[in-house]
Amino acid sequence: MPKLSFVIPCYGSELTIERVIAEIGLVATQKPEYDYEIICVNDSSPDNVLPLLRRLAASDPRLTVVDLSRNMGKHSAVMAGYSLATGDIIINLDDDGQSPMPHLWELLLPLSEGYDISMAKYPRKMQSRFKNFASRINAEMAHLLLGKPRSLAFENFSAVKRFVIDEVLKYQNPYPYLDGLYLRSTGKIANVVMEQRERSDGRGGFTFLKSLKLWLNGFTAFSVKPLRISTFLGAAVALAGFIYGLWIIIRKLFLVPEMSTGYPSIMSALLFIGGMIMMMLGMLGEYVGRIYISINKSPQYVIREIIHGGAQIEDN
Ligand code: UDP
Ligand code: MG
Repeated sequence: MPKLSFVIPCYGSELTIERVIAEIGLVATQKPEYDYEIICVNDSSPDNVLPLLRRLAASDPRLTVVDLSRNMGKHSAVMAGYSLATGDIIINLDDDGQSPMPHLWELLLPLSEGYDISMAKYPRKMQSRFKNFASRINAEMAHLLLGKPRSLAFENFSAVKRFVIDEVLKYQNPYPYLDGLYLRSTGKIANVVMEQRERSDGRGGFTFLKSLKLWLNGFTAFSVKPLRISTFLGAAVALAGFIYGLWIIIRKLFLVPEMSTGYPSIMSALLFIGGMIMMMLGMLGEYVGRIYISINKSPQYVIREIIHGGAQIEDN
């Protein structure tokens, strides 16, 4: 029997999570040919979501609760959940009821049509104008740096095949960035258009600073392209210095023999040398970046305990 694993990162959702879990139960039992499990990861939420989850887990053998010892951010929390998921298809959704669970079976369709990942695409986003703007910049950066097709949307409701999750989990470094991990694992990603729902309660857990951090993490951990800007910029400046130098020589020799050459020649030498240094720094940075990407091994997340069926099965 194929098994679905629902992975939910939880942060500030004591008012909504119970409904989200209940809805999964309702929808998943529509097709009894599927077995399912739910994994809730408490990303050190400041509210009382953990005691609530504990209580729910006591009466629901399908629910596993993971409590992280520190707030590590959404992507790390999802990775923690993935590491415990045992299903054939792993579904990731939000804890605030925004992910439209009634569309679950539509979301799963592309997986039987040869796709490895299926993501919701929302024609209209329920979020602030500022966040909309940030998402747009994010999409453009993901296109430029990670090679994500522009038309592809990455939203908070996705279904992913087992082997992709296995691949994603091989990433051991801190700052996991799921979009980058998905894109480096497979090219077969489908979008399913559906309406996003309003937040049922509570406020978004993402502050501006958190979003910015996530964004910088994602791109610096997965791409050394920003460093290349320095290389190219340096090359351009050096070239400008070189041409300027040539121009001074030509002017002095053929056009204005009486011109003073002290200042212009120093300027052109400065530009040229400065540009060369920037270029070398960029190239050096490229190697440093690669080393950084491959050796940084501080932990992604730390699990304090895992609760299953109300009982603690692991404690550190
Ligand atoms: N989240 C998390 N850790 C955080 C912030 C958010 O695990 O520090 C989770 C949160 O529980 C939710 C998901 O990330 O499941 C998306 O958060 P939210 O709904 O606040 O963001 P939005 O829907 O606006 O993208
Ligand atoms: Mg949300």
